Parts: sequence; C-alpha cells; structure tokens
Amino acid sequence: MTRSQVRGDAAARGSAVRAAVTACRLLWASPCSALGAVLGCAVIAAGGSARRVGRTVEIARYHGAAPPGSRLARAPFTAITFGHVILGASHAELARLRPHEQVHVRQYERLGPLFLVAYPCSSLLALLRGECPYRANRFERQAFRETDAGEARQTIAAGGHVAMRK
Ligand SMILES: [Zn+2]
Repeated sequence: MTRSQVRGDAAARGSAVRAAVTACRLLWASPCSALGAVLGCAVIAAGGSARRVGRTVEIARYHGAAPPGSRLARAPFTAITFGHVILGASHAELARLRPHEQVHVRQYERLGPLFLVAYPCSSLLALLRGECPYRANRFERQAFRETDAGEARQTIAAGGHVAMRK
C-alpha cells in the first residue's frame, strides 16, 4: 500500500465519520423538526413557500416584508426554529436572521428534544431573576453572542471598524 493510498483511506474514513455525525444530529433533532414541519405545512397551506438552505428548510408566508397591519406583521417574533425547520413571516426576514437561527439549529443538534424543555426553563429562570425572559435566555444570549462575533469578523474582513461594546 502506498502513502497516497493510506491518505486516501484516512480521508474516506473521515468523510464517512462526518456523514455519520451529521446523520446522528439530524436524527436527534428530528422530533423537533417534525413539529416544525407540521407548523410549516400550515404556513404553506396559507400561501407560504419553503426553501432548502443547507441542512435546514426555511418556510415563510411572504417573500418580501409582511404587509403592514397583517397578523404576521404584528407577531412578537419574525422567525422561530424547530430542529432543522425555520419558520418566518417572510423569506427576506429569514435571510436576514439566518445566522441567529442557525445557532438555534446547532443548539437543537446538541440537545435534541430536550431543547423544547431547556429553552422555556431558561426563560422561566430569567423571569424569576427579574430579567427579560427573551434577552436573558441562555440560548438567546449564545445566539446573539455568536451572531455579533460573526458580524464583527465580516466587518473587520471588509476593512471596516468595529466599535467595542460593554
Ligand atoms: Zn433566537
């Protein structure tokens, strides 16, 4: 066996391991994805559409912004993630919020169905501490932290200036 054959075998094994890990993540989050798919079907039945983005499916009622005065325009959130299914008022909003929602996708991949219990528990604990149940939720904090870090890296890469926040 030559050195390049050994390297080729190792690369094939690495690829197989990555595929197995991805399959496990999809499977572990699948009960949550199934819930998102059911809700997404209702959005599609109401005139929405779905797009596949990487390992996720984004489902939205509108392509552009939700019409002012519509129920979705008044909704308290513009996107919500269930496993590998992300629901939103519009595809434009989903594209804007994609980095944030992708953090939640990774959280579902780690916690699976436990996320559906852990997330509200974190909000409840924040509420009991007298903090905002959304902003102080540990999963939201992680999503905002990682999204902010990603935006800062892009700004620096583009030659921009990043103001430091407290
Ligand atoms: Zn979030």
